[in-house]
Amino acid sequence: ALYTLYPILRNGEYKGAVLRIEESDPAFGLSLGSIVQDMALYGLGLIAIGSYLGHYMLNRYLQPLDELQEGVGALTKGNFSYRLPQEVRTDFSPLSTSLNILGTRLEEVEKQQREFVASVSHEIKTPIAALKIITESLLDARDTVDRDTIFDFLEDVDTESERLKDIVEDLLYLVKLEQKQMRLEVDMRPISRCLEDSIHLLEPIAAQGQITLHREFSQKIFAEFDYNRFKQVFINLIANAIKYNNPGGNVFVRLFEEKDEVIIEIEDDGWGIPEEDLTYVFQRFYRVDKGRARLTGGTGLGLSIAKEVVGLHFGEINVHSTMGKGTLFRITLPKRMQVAR
Ligand code: ADP
Repeated sequence: ALYTLYPILRNGEYKGAVLRIEESDPAFGLSLGSIVQDMALYGLGLIAIGSYLGHYMLNRYLQPLDELQEGVGALTKGNFSYRLPQEVRTDFSPLSTSLNILGTRLEEVEKQQREFVASVSHEIKTPIAALKIITESLLDARDTVDRDTIFDFLEDVDTESERLKDIVEDLLYLVKLEQKQMRLEVDMRPISRCLEDSIHLLEPIAAQGQITLHREFSQKIFAEFDYNRFKQVFINLIANAIKYNNPGGNVFVRLFEEKDEVIIEIEDDGWGIPEEDLTYVFQRFYRVDKGRARLTGGTGLGLSIAKEVVGLHFGEINVHSTMGKGTLFRITLPKRMQVAR
């Protein structure tokens, strides 16, 4: 209710008063009960919205976190093929993408490791099996075998054990290179000197196969490189150019510079490499002619070693070849390793 008091005055003198009592306006008529009722209604609405938002936020953050945890768990258990769902984008999407990439990489490493172990055991098993057959045949025929046959067999034993030694040595060298365990001894030196040393070493073998080695370089070109590791690379490449060649064939060794780089080319006019094999020749134990591999006596690791050494110097090696016409290996090496880094 609304109470109003009017004073009654005459000539300024107070005579009395009128009290007016008015029924209240509907605006004032809200009862406490209805206020509480309304508040409860709004409150419930707010709680509903709040819990929905809470649920949404929890889902948004907790579910991807659970998935991430599951993914990490799978990887630590060695389940590298596990992939996190990528359909819905969340704040954690970049993390789950990285985890999936990690999974793919680990899967690749595991596959490469399996293939490596399989190929190593295959490569090593072959000469060991040959040695076993030779010695067993000799032992079986111990009462009848003559001296000349014994020496023939011994020559085979020598060849096979040499082969085994080469494979193990190359393999250990390659593994050390790949794991970056080998310290490079880098100096600024003339590449031509290193090429000359390698050619000099191989000249007798080339002469045996009636192959001519052509030096197509004259000036001294300097670069920063590890002399002994590069000598091994040049020997591998030139030896291949002699080995996979015909009597009367040629090997051209070139050296020139382009801006900050040194280019070394080793080209032959030998057998060539089929196009479909070209991408694989730098892989460990890859041989174009598997049947002929034992005759040529290589370990199948020469080009992998070359690629690894060139890579450690921030250089590149690539190959061009035409079947029956010849092969060209080209190495591009930065003159200064610091610049390349
Ligand atoms: P290998 O010890 O068998 O020579 P490499 O790794 O040096 O191993 O070479 C891999 C394969 O690439 C060789 O087995 C051969 O088939 C091929 N190859 C390498 N160099 C040449 C070349 N100059 N001409 C033809 N084929 C080559």
